[in-house]
Amino acid sequence: MVEKHADFIVLGAGPGGYACAFRAADLGRKVVLVDPRATLGGVCLNEGCIPSKALLHAAEVIREAHEIGDWGIDLGKPKIDLDALRSRKDGIVGQLTGGLTGLAKRRKVETVRGTARFTGPSSLDIDGDAWTFDQAVIAVGSAPIQLPGWPDDDRIWDSTAALELRQVPKRLAIVGGGIIGLEMATVYAALGAQVTVIEFMDQIAPGADAEAVRVLHDALEQQGVTIHIGTKVTTIKATKAALTLSCEGGFAGDLKADAAIQAVGRRANGALVEPQAAGVAVDDRGVIAVDASCRTTVDGIFAIGDVTGNPMLAHRATHQGHVAAEVASGHVAALDTDLIPSVAYTSPELAWAGLTQAQAKAQGIAHKVASFPWAASGRNLSSGGGDGLTKLVYCPETHRVLGATLVGRNAGELLAECVLAVEMGATLEDIALTVHAHPTLSETIAFTAERALGTLTDL
Ligand code: NAD
Repeated sequence: MVEKHADFIVLGAGPGGYACAFRAADLGRKVVLVDPRATLGGVCLNEGCIPSKALLHAAEVIREAHEIGDWGIDLGKPKIDLDALRSRKDGIVGQLTGGLTGLAKRRKVETVRGTARFTGPSSLDIDGDAWTFDQAVIAVGSAPIQLPGWPDDDRIWDSTAALELRQVPKRLAIVGGGIIGLEMATVYAALGAQVTVIEFMDQIAPGADAEAVRVLHDALEQQGVTIHIGTKVTTIKATKAALTLSCEGGFAGDLKADAAIQAVGRRANGALVEPQAAGVAVDDRGVIAVDASCRTTVDGIFAIGDVTGNPMLAHRATHQGHVAAEVASGHVAALDTDLIPSVAYTSPELAWAGLTQAQAKAQGIAHKVASFPWAASGRNLSSGGGDGLTKLVYCPETHRVLGATLVGRNAGELLAECVLAVEMGATLEDIALTVHAHPTLSETIAFTAERALGTLTDL
């Protein structure tokens, strides 16, 4: 058997892995990129971020078509062709994954389809082929957590199955009110399902600002979604007629559903590549520990993205991918920030970065809070936006912005200004004295800063 050799090998072609491979190639390395999928892009492109955003766009159009009735425009009841919607979504995914193949070719990155596992500190097995390498990057991501004791039934979906859009069930139970659960609730409620979200913690989107979450919670309820917080699903039984979810806590009793989505978090895939064979430790959550330069404890082996633990977000993986490629190629680089923005692409969107009010309080950090309600935003009202809120957490002494939360239409896009502000140590004055175009939703950020400074004239 011929042993193959790679100068720089990346395991996993998600947004972390392909970004790492492409950056390394741009730095002059000879790169091999390995993934078991037929297409590049990992979970994000194939069965995560991108297909979910396509379905969320469709959901938003359905909702807007309904809401424009209040403006004297009757678009009628939308007729939904599920097959056409599914193929549109798949077409978008295909376009993007095809684009990645082109980018890999242009950079002369060799792509290998297969499943890799370590056999030593500088050797791998890829589907029976023996490889050696000089440097390797583990970018194998994460997988949905399966709750123990759930029956094996094709009406019980994980996020991948939910995005396949097999059917629109009459009654859909979603276990877990995190980002995946809430995005899927937004999609399936718009498509006509009666959706119930069951969340274990005392609010949906745990960890996000409670006041902003309330706005989203109320909006979802208005869209017909039933939400049970502080509630745990203890057992689930499957009969021919229905699924029965037994719940305890805030909602105690049985809940019947025609399909159920498990969205209770993701588990790192570290153990799958058997890193112990290379001397790289993996913990019992499947996580591989790294330093800010994405180095593992073994020289020449790096890890990036979901496999390195929370937050499991594509944009963090991409940045780590660049860092790993640069450090491996002799440059000095690090991802030395925990400022990783979060966005739930729900309707309305919920977006946050930096310290929340609750975190500042819990950590004993001196802080003040200012907010601006979107009911007072001309742009929001004139474009049919519902309730919304912009909230800044800042230092009372220096006026430096420490964190931001926005809920409302396009909150995810607006967040970028706040992330930059926190990253660059901007003050309230920096934001308030920057001229924001009128009328825009971005003005709500300047208005919030003005409110904190006592210079606001729009409230
Ligand atoms: P999550 O950890 O965000 O949310 C899971 C939720 O399930 C939590 O709120 C938890 O309290 C709840 N839960 C756990 N066990 C439960 C039980 N037995 N009964 C009821 N509730 C229970 O996980 P997720 O939503 O599955 O998402 C997984 C990962 O993917 C996260 O890291 C998320 O950030 C990421 N993701 C991000 C985006 C985005 O950025 N837009 C989209 C999708 C997923």
